[in-house]
This record gives sequence, C-alpha cells and structure tokens, in this order.
Amino acid sequence: LTGFLNGRFAPLADLQISVLDRGFLFGDGIYEAIPVYNRHPLRLTEHLRRLAASLAAINMPNPYGAEEWAVWIQQLIDQQRFVDQSVYLQITRGPAFPRNHAFPAVTEPTVFMFADELLPPTSEAVANGVAAVSSDDIRWQRCNIKAISLLANVLLKQQAVDAGVAETILFRDGLLIEGASSNILVVKEGVLLAPPPSHLMLTGITYDLVIELARQHNMPLEIRPISEATVRLADEIWLTSSSKEVLAVVSLDGQTVGSGQPGPLYQAMYGYFQVFKNEAMRL
Ligand code: PLP
Repeated sequence: LTGFLNGRFAPLADLQISVLDRGFLFGDGIYEAIPVYNRHPLRLTEHLRRLAASLAAINMPNPYGAEEWAVWIQQLIDQQRFVDQSVYLQITRGPAFPRNHAFPAVTEPTVFMFADELLPPTSEAVANGVAAVSSDDIRWQRCNIKAISLLANVLLKQQAVDAGVAETILFRDGLLIEGASSNILVVKEGVLLAPPPSHLMLTGITYDLVIELARQHNMPLEIRPISEATVRLADEIWLTSSSKEVLAVVSLDGQTVGSGQPGPLYQAMYGYFQVFKNEAMRL
C-alpha cells in the first residue's frame, strides 16, 4: 500500500512522523475519509469543503488548494491495486517542543494520506438490515469538526462491538444526534426525518447526499429535531456513512424496528443511491 506524507509518496511502512507530533500527543488535527469507486472519488468537492471547514474551525491554514488536493488524491488512488477504495487523509498541527497545550508559535503541519480497499456493505446487510444499540452521547460540543481526537467515538463504537451489533446510536438530552461513526435518519408514517445539522453532530457527506436524493425523488422529508421516543417508534431507521452507504437498522437495543425488515422507503433510497453512484462514477 502506497501512502502520502507531506508531499511524498512511499510504501506505508516507510513513512514516519515525529513522536512530538501534536496529532500523536494531543489528537490535535482533523481528517477526512473519501469513498472511491472505480478510481473515482465520490463527492470530492464536498469532502474538500468539509476538510477546509474543519481546518478553519481549529485555526489551521489549508496546506493545499482544492485543485492541488484533487491532484494529490488522484495520484494516491492511481497507485493502489484496488479500484474501489477508501481514502483516509489527516492533517495535524505538526511536531512541536516543548509539549504545551497552546498552539506553538511556528508550526509545520503533518499531511498524511493512505488508501485501503473499500468494502461496501454485504448484500446480506443490505437485504436484511443491521442491528444497533443506543447510548447517551458522551462527546464534546464541537462534533461538527471532523477531529482526529476520537476517544469518545472509540468507546461508543466498542459498545456496539461488545453487543455484537453494527452501530451505537447516540442521544443527547432526549434527542437523536447520530451514530458513533455514521448519521442516522428515520422514517415515520411515510416521511423521512433527518436531524438538523448542528455543532453536536458531524454533517455527513452521505447524509447530505441522501437528503439531496430524497428531494430529487419527491420523498416526503422533514429536517427537524427528532426525539428518542420517535426513534424508538420509527417505521424505519437508516444509517449513512461513506463506507456503509445507506443501511437499514432493523433492531435497536433488542427491540424490532418497524416490520423488522428494511422498509419500502429504504429500498427506494438504496436504489436511488446506487443509480447516483454508478452514474457519478461512470461504472
Ligand atoms: N458521523 C460521524 C461521527 C462519523 O464519524 C461519520 C463518518 O464516518 C459520519 C457521521 C458520516 O459521515 P460521511 O457520510 O461523510 O462518511
């Protein structure tokens, strides 16, 4: 696997960073994960826009312009064996000494990327849905930043793994927020409900795409706060992310969701999503 570090491509095993890197010491950095189909990154412009917003939110300059990013990312993609990939990129505030929480006076960011094989959800998961558990959202108040400091998300995701399910759905103050590494939408009485973007959730590129597709296909849609009770009584629950596309959640905390099978709106959206993807990626 070929990686990229500060303007240089090399085998991943040959890339090294300083132990003083603020990404390592403080989790001081941001990241993106971009799905790639047939060597075409999906929604690259949107991912780069969110990257720029994350950098601005932590007071870091963007090391590259959008066009430069696009060139580096395509070069990375073209050097991999797999045609379907997940490109991971992260930018940290770089190495600094002495260790001090405050921003160093002089910084040289660390820019790192690698790509791995993208394994879309199995046809079994698409056909039958997945299970989830729920938890109180123990994260901070700036979840709109795609920060590499993910300890809370790690602990929350492990709850799902320990329970043998796919995802942990997070509630805060009685409202649906998102998943540990996904966004969550629900269907009630034929209407798709999506929680409004805020500083408490990461606005997914897939979440935005699903909302765009719902509008395009005249699927009834409301973007509004969703109570925990509404989720527990929902006809359908969907999970979206760059690696999972759109999946139906058919069980929450051991309780059956709706009919217990992926619902009709899910099936429609899954179809819209595949058509969009195939057209965008010229498959
Ligand atoms: N929310 C969180 C906390 C995430 O980590 C992710 C990404 O995996 C998402 C939502 C979904 O975002 P995207 O659709 O851009 O992958």
